[in-house]
Amino acid sequence: MFEKSIKAYEEACKVIPGGVDSPVRAFKSVGGTPPFIQKGEGAYLYDIDGNKYLDFVQSWGPLIFGHCDKDIEEAVIKTVKNGLSFGAPTELETQLANEIVEMYDNIDKVRFVSSGTEATMSAIRLARGVTGKNDIIKFEGCYHGHSDSLLVQAGSGMATFGAPSSPGVPADLTKHTLVCEYNNIENLKKCFEESSDIACIIIEPIAGNMGLVPATEEFLATCRELCDKHGTLLIFDEVMSGFRASLKGASGILKTQGDIITFGKVIGAGMPVGAFAASKEIMGHLSPEGKVYQAGTLSGNPVAMAAGLVSLKKLKANLEIYADLSAKAKKLVNGLKDIATKYNIPMQVDTRGSMFGFFFCEKAPKNFVEVGLCDFKRFATFHHEMLKKGFYFACSQYETGFVCTTITNEDIDACLNAADEIMQKL
Ligand code: PLP
Repeated sequence: MFEKSIKAYEEACKVIPGGVDSPVRAFKSVGGTPPFIQKGEGAYLYDIDGNKYLDFVQSWGPLIFGHCDKDIEEAVIKTVKNGLSFGAPTELETQLANEIVEMYDNIDKVRFVSSGTEATMSAIRLARGVTGKNDIIKFEGCYHGHSDSLLVQAGSGMATFGAPSSPGVPADLTKHTLVCEYNNIENLKKCFEESSDIACIIIEPIAGNMGLVPATEEFLATCRELCDKHGTLLIFDEVMSGFRASLKGASGILKTQGDIITFGKVIGAGMPVGAFAASKEIMGHLSPEGKVYQAGTLSGNPVAMAAGLVSLKKLKANLEIYADLSAKAKKLVNGLKDIATKYNIPMQVDTRGSMFGFFFCEKAPKNFVEVGLCDFKRFATFHHEMLKKGFYFACSQYETGFVCTTITNEDIDACLNAADEIMQKL
């Protein structure tokens, strides 16, 4: 049933490292060959062998309206006809910036870039430029893209300066990154004892890159308190949670607020877009207003702006979407958990808006080490068997799942029926 994909993957591997342009797509953590996709339609994906899947990945988050949403498609086509890129300002950028700014009390200005990686990398540079400090704190298990200073693992223990986690990253570039355990207040305090030169904390307030592991309110409040005390800026990386966890992302459901917020995924609706945003005082440090340099040939690309603009306008005009998405995500994971319990399989589940996660383990993980203790073998088997039945879950236990607006309760029932058959044999 995957013959054409297997052949396509072999061909891809000849000319593309590992056959993919982003490592997770290669299915290494679950094994097997990734289906090669021909098209998407609403909540569904179709591969080149003619298999149809209910898609819980949605391009890793951007497609909150599912594939080929008519309004987004129309806006993109209309904009394309005026030209693909100008490298000059367009009103679309201001319109999309206004949509974002309008929603947050603590944001006055937005700078658009072309990916989440660029957004976080630039936000960190801005924080360093504003504070005049050099060190940064990142948490183990949070992913903020692949810029050098973030490709870091804990050195000889937590709350220490990190070592590169990838060849090609000089130790000189990670020596300013302190790595701390997520949700560990004592550890975080220790970081501030290690260094008096901390420019920013960067955090996924709802971590989605070690599976779904939300930060506790207490932990985030401590981040805020320590930042305020030490003249450090708090960066909320909402590339994934932005417009997903709620209309205002994690910021909309948490008491603690960040100083700089990074966006991506949903604000581009499937086009390559990222952004970072903050108060006018902070953003005033950015070139050409200020001295912190940041630039991009395709930044604020009109086609991408048009897609994002329609997407955000539709979300704002239909606020009931969030309750519906949240109910569907809950129906899915609660259903999975009930089935697992029926077959004596330990499972932990959680949701935030349209984001969902499930782990095969006894206790809800609250950090990266605890996620590592889950049953990855069971996850891989479950993933594989569900794929064969037409359900496309993220191909790693370290990823979060997403529901889109076009998924129906009947779709979820079908998924749960399939999961029941599979878990009987897990
Ligand atoms: N930040 C978070 C929270 C992400 O989930 C990701 C990607 O998944 C990134 C940053 C990097 O974004 P991109 O892959 O667009 O560079």
